[in-house]
Amino acid sequence: MELYNPSVIRRIKNRYGFQFSKSLGQNFLTDKGVIDRIVDGAGITEDDMVIEIGPGIGVLTRAAAEKAGKVIAIEIDTNLMTILEDTLSGFDNIKIINENVLKLDLVSLINQEARGYKSVKVIGNLPYYITTAIIMKLLEERLSVESITIMMQKEVADRIKSAPGSRIYGAISVAVQYYCEVNVVEDVPKKCFMPMPKVDSTVLRLDIRKEPAVELLDEKMFFRCIKAGFSQRRKTLLNSLTGTGFEKGVISKCLENAGIGSRRRAETLSLSEFASAANELVKEGKR
Ligand code: SAM
Repeated sequence: MELYNPSVIRRIKNRYGFQFSKSLGQNFLTDKGVIDRIVDGAGITEDDMVIEIGPGIGVLTRAAAEKAGKVIAIEIDTNLMTILEDTLSGFDNIKIINENVLKLDLVSLINQEARGYKSVKVIGNLPYYITTAIIMKLLEERLSVESITIMMQKEVADRIKSAPGSRIYGAISVAVQYYCEVNVVEDVPKKCFMPMPKVDSTVLRLDIRKEPAVELLDEKMFFRCIKAGFSQRRKTLLNSLTGTGFEKGVISKCLENAGIGSRRRAETLSLSEFASAANELVKEGKR
């Protein structure tokens, strides 16, 4: 069944009385080439267990299941369950979980399901309304996952991969680059979806770092600095880092010790400069 074919999607909609939900970010893929490149970009093999977020009617799920040892697909929309049972009926290596991925205990899920597989890979054409929340959940929970290959709004992907000094460099760029190496699989025009969204998309593969990108004395302080720095991004670090709870005198001294000009702004700081500033604040806090 060519689930990417718009007339097949229309037929499924009519047969099951299914309506696209805008609020659940339902824009289904209609381009076979893009589907294949997501699966190839993720480098899925039969040694892998794949977790797919938001299978929709199962177009990517099927393509992944042809290559993977096992696919666990997490879909929030109960209206899609009967459809998925039918569209995926020929596969014995797919398990569907009808849940909100943001509420699911992914650590336990991986512990229970991934035994016997060499690695776990996450894929998905993410609902745009919660892209950042999903990415941060996957990363902050430090799941035993090798990579995350996901489609997202191009604008979000551009922010994630941006470098210091760029107007769009922000907390999400530093956070994701701290946990992962970011690779672009491809840009995807809006015409490859049904219904057609208003914006273009990008597929990124986030390879989880095996070694930390920077040495940190306290990860919480690192993230406190990032949050404080970017929540007042137009202010100098001397001012914005007061959001960490330290006084200006202390911040000034720590920035000097880290070799960072206190008049600089968060958007100019590299990952390692954020780490140095945070480490100095940790040392100061212990005095
Ligand atoms: N994978 C399909 C495709 O590429 O055609 C559908 C992708 S569609 C952009 C996003 C899917 O995520 C929808 O099926 C939607 O119902 C599902 N979804 C939305 N919010 C979710 C959540 N919190 N947890 C799990 N799935 C969710």
